[in-house]
Amino acid sequence: SCNSKSTEENDKTIKEKPSMNTEIDKKVASLLSEMTLEEKVGQMTQITLDVVTKGDNQYSSALPYELDSALVRKAIHTYKVGSILNTPGIPLSRQDWYKTIKIFQDEAAKTPRQIPIIYGIDAIHGVNYTTEATLFPQQIALAATFNRDLVKEVAKISAYETRASSIPWNFSPVLGLGRNPLWPRLWETFGEDVYLGKTMGVAMVEGYQGTLGDPYTVASCMKHYLGYSVPLSGKDRTPAWIPERELRQYFLPAFKAAVDAGSVTLMINSGEINGVPVHASKFLLTDVLRGELGFEGIAVTDWADINYLHTRHKVAETIKDAIKMSINAGVDMSMVPHDFEFAELLVELVKEGSVAEERINSAVSRILKVKMQLGLFESPVTDPKDYPDFGSEKFASVSKKAALESFTLLKNKEDVLPLEKGTKILVTGPTANTMRSLNGGWSYNWQGSEADNYAKDKNTIAEAIVGLGNATFVQGVSFKEDNGIDSTVLKEVSFEDQKNIDAAVKAAQQTDVILLCLGENSYTETPGNINSILLPKDQVELTKALAKTGKKIVLVLLEGRPIIFNEIEPLVDAVFMGYLPGNHGADALGDLLYGLESPSGRLPINYPKHPHAFVNYNHKHSDNISIPNYYDSDYDQQYEFGDGLSYTTFEYSNLSVSAEEMNEDGSIDVSITVTNTGSRDGKEAVLLFISDLYASITPEVRALKGYEKIALSKGESKEVSFTITKDELSFVNQELETIAEPGDFEISIGDLKKKIKLK
Ligand code: BGC
Repeated sequence: SCNSKSTEENDKTIKEKPSMNTEIDKKVASLLSEMTLEEKVGQMTQITLDVVTKGDNQYSSALPYELDSALVRKAIHTYKVGSILNTPGIPLSRQDWYKTIKIFQDEAAKTPRQIPIIYGIDAIHGVNYTTEATLFPQQIALAATFNRDLVKEVAKISAYETRASSIPWNFSPVLGLGRNPLWPRLWETFGEDVYLGKTMGVAMVEGYQGTLGDPYTVASCMKHYLGYSVPLSGKDRTPAWIPERELRQYFLPAFKAAVDAGSVTLMINSGEINGVPVHASKFLLTDVLRGELGFEGIAVTDWADINYLHTRHKVAETIKDAIKMSINAGVDMSMVPHDFEFAELLVELVKEGSVAEERINSAVSRILKVKMQLGLFESPVTDPKDYPDFGSEKFASVSKKAALESFTLLKNKEDVLPLEKGTKILVTGPTANTMRSLNGGWSYNWQGSEADNYAKDKNTIAEAIVGLGNATFVQGVSFKEDNGIDSTVLKEVSFEDQKNIDAAVKAAQQTDVILLCLGENSYTETPGNINSILLPKDQVELTKALAKTGKKIVLVLLEGRPIIFNEIEPLVDAVFMGYLPGNHGADALGDLLYGLESPSGRLPINYPKHPHAFVNYNHKHSDNISIPNYYDSDYDQQYEFGDGLSYTTFEYSNLSVSAEEMNEDGSIDVSITVTNTGSRDGKEAVLLFISDLYASITPEVRALKGYEKIALSKGESKEVSFTITKDELSFVNQELETIAEPGDFEISIGDLKKKIKLK
């Protein structure tokens, strides 16, 4: 009877869904039929008003910045612009956001069709342009939690606070894979793995969108489609070379999963793949995205990327050609963002017959539909008063929890951690006393350099640890660059640095343990491009000098990508990878250092040991063959994907499978018992890997195909189970088909030493 009930319920939802869609589709079609070409093209135009201009500023008395009302009117009335993005240059309170968005929506309400504006922003780790909002760890740190439910909750809160700022569209999540450690946006990804990226991406989309249309949710934006994350040079927006087979196997699945989860918008990769800029690729934007993935939402360009087809990529001889190329390839909305040339030229192109009105109609229908799904026609603004939980303690505790679960303990020699209460600590290093390195980019301003000003009430590591008791802070060395990062050059140790190093050494002599905080200054996109991924020399010298004191050193790394520190790794006793843990990261670190919580993060990337030897964890067998004196491909990483220690111990037992053979449409359940055998409570991320032993495309040594985060009190046991379907055994073959080939597979679970074979 249970079964028959759920079938009935299913039938109901299936019947209701299409009728709802038809209702919206009908409204869209009717509105579209009334619109002029100029109005339609306006809907496809997205501009920014981040250039603060003086002049006729009729609105500005109510705002903390100058808003050029003539420009606003020109955009909305003359060019009928349908979308606006980004900030006016400074972070705003939610009340000022409300006033800002209301100005735009009030103007839009005076137009003949009264179509609301859709305002978009990068609220990528919380609403990072709204003051007093909750800032969470960045995506790479969220991935390290291996906790999908937590990530969904983070996204849900971000949606709530975005909407409390009257903004309904979030340019998040990033679904590219962080596979090139040099790339300055690695920290915006969920790490290097396909399965982790795809499942975390879905959790985030679900958290953002909930039931789209309720006023606590926002439209998510999957980005940057496709293959943006692996530029060959490691520098942002430079060419990538990805064979179609690899594109399909590694880069497409996260987008496919997010489309299936209902994400209503997508942003396009600014770069080129195999010599074709993605903004001009009909193959990727129409054949694959619409034809294969069935995506029905809005495809928006990235920043000025249509123009770049002409000025940067040189595939279009004029801007007009570039517009024609990209709209015909399948772009729905152009993030212009600074002029009205796009709108003017696109109208011309349609009139000349170079772009079919049908193409315009389908783009505009998608845009109108998302605006309707979000409820913007009924409620173009949302009032901060209706969001009492904004910036609450409740939300802060989720941020701290996410930080706690992300910190990844990679070394703990002779159990130096946790520290006893009362241990005398020296806190030092360039990331010790700044909010920038906790938050990373996209924090109060684009480069994150405003974090120190706007998160004044939040703790830096030095403040948190000194606040807990027996600790002192001495700077050691500091970052010199305000915009961008120091490691572009291997900074030499100056006279000033040496004086600061000496001061830190002197202070260290009076203490028991040194908490050494190294890493990177904050940066975003191209200012984060580097020529060397080695730890800068001043940080190396600080470490060497401190090591000579013979005191125990606990190293904390705050960084957006794995900066190589091989040279000093033997000098430190413990290593915490902190990533960019957000506004509550320092407090979380305090709890972990003193053992109030046990660490449970795991690396979502391989941590390289050498600057020219980057290998992903799911490498091929021939990446790691060693025949003495003859052949050595040397897989030698500092730490591996999935690494992460705890203060307690976990034992895995009773590994069992429901069947040893799987046929075409079957599935197999795998279960294992995990027991906390140590002396304190803890959390454990249980990871399941599968190896296809022989395959027609060289198989990976192993690939993640399941994970579960569990909490276990000391002595407690839990059974964890996974269901393996054909999907998890499949790969893309030479004919570009996704298939599972018959043969033997090996499952590794938990500590990776207990393996069983599955046919
Ligand atoms: C970034 C996007 C972002 C957009 C809008 C671009 O520079 O690549 O990720 O969404 O700016 O801020």
